Amino acid sequence: MIKLNQTHDVNLTSWVTSANTNSDFPIQNLPFAIFRRKDQNEALRGGVAIGTQVVDLAALAQLNLFSGIAKTALEAARQPTLNALMDLGVEANSALRLSLSKALRVDSPLQAELASTLIPQADIEFGMPCQIGDYTDFYTSVYHATAVGKLFRPDNPLLPNYKWIPIGYHGRSSTIGISGQKFHRPIGQTKAADASAPSFAPCKRLDYELEMGFFVGKSTEMGQQIAIETAEQHLFGVCIFNDWSARDIQAWEYQPLGPFLAKSFASTISPWIVTMEALAPFRAKFTRPESDPQPLPHLSSEHNSEFGGLDIDLSCFIQTQAMHQNKQAMTQLSQSNFKYSYWTPAQLITHHGSNGCSMRSGDLLGSGTQSGPTFEEAGSLLELSKGGKTPITLPNGEKRTFLEDGDTIIMRASCSKQGAVSIGFGEVVATVLPAKA
Ligand code: MN
Repeated sequence: MIKLNQTHDVNLTSWVTSANTNSDFPIQNLPFAIFRRKDQNEALRGGVAIGTQVVDLAALAQLNLFSGIAKTALEAARQPTLNALMDLGVEANSALRLSLSKALRVDSPLQAELASTLIPQADIEFGMPCQIGDYTDFYTSVYHATAVGKLFRPDNPLLPNYKWIPIGYHGRSSTIGISGQKFHRPIGQTKAADASAPSFAPCKRLDYELEMGFFVGKSTEMGQQIAIETAEQHLFGVCIFNDWSARDIQAWEYQPLGPFLAKSFASTISPWIVTMEALAPFRAKFTRPESDPQPLPHLSSEHNSEFGGLDIDLSCFIQTQAMHQNKQAMTQLSQSNFKYSYWTPAQLITHHGSNGCSMRSGDLLGSGTQSGPTFEEAGSLLELSKGGKTPITLPNGEKRTFLEDGDTIIMRASCSKQGAVSIGFGEVVATVLPAKA
């Protein structure tokens, strides 16, 4: 795992002054995205956020200011996806981060050149950060797994494998979209408990899931295992991930092979990828209650126990169509933290590769819904509405058990800790459209 270095120094400030106060993107963050200027017929390329601006990495590469592996990484970032940059691995990405950090600091001799590459974030649109070859979703919140298990299997909520292996399923990458996504309510087969046969109709129990998404960095070959000690060398960075879920379709289809069409219709990611290096100040201990089984040796290391977790605050908001029309601000549904995860990112990728499955740069690993130990920390409506039995009331008087057409869900994430500069992930926003006739 990456140690603290000069790029995390709390005393660093940027000549891009908007980065220095109350910004998700101070000089200690430097997350990557794929972007272009709005309404221009431009090529997509890599960018790095600093305050309210984005450094155009294609424009920066043309200036030929960096050298060595930082230059190699910068060249890779000119492409319309970040896959090549991701695949270069930790050393090259770290060198690029250091060069950017130096160039964006107050008193940098490169200020004038860098300033010529800045574009206001207000003037850009995002592309998908990479081509996501494979997408896997995990189930790492024991609180979510227990709450959902109780609804589907009251007598047997947590299955016996849960505490031994990170449970996951292979999802679908073709329908993963970037923040701003609007998608149609899925249609599918569902069966009410008292019905003798299923019916085919628009989903009635549409839900969101508050998750983190981990992007694979350096690829592995088929047959190559990933040791827990070096697992994070194969992770590039983290985004916010909304794994939309059709609970009624899920309940009917999920046994015995797991989620299928209940999940594959849409998922939405935040545009900025916060690197694992930027998260170094926000590492957390990974602990298990003593009464729980400890992970098997291949999923366990001293370093993982001491620093494997991540302290990331997560929050989820709704703005209904009525709120939007009446110009009412979004309202918070819940807040949670990734530190509650039962498994660490290193354990997820180690487990994923443990059978010899190759991991490719740009693959996405969803964390699973990050519900915390209390009711207020539930990461889905399924939990907040107690399985659809108890509607929640919004400040404008509207009620929700599940999502209605026109609802917009907004998720945010940030890290703060004494002795570190707070960083944010921006947000992921997406809206439910009516089912397609
Ligand atoms: Mn999920």
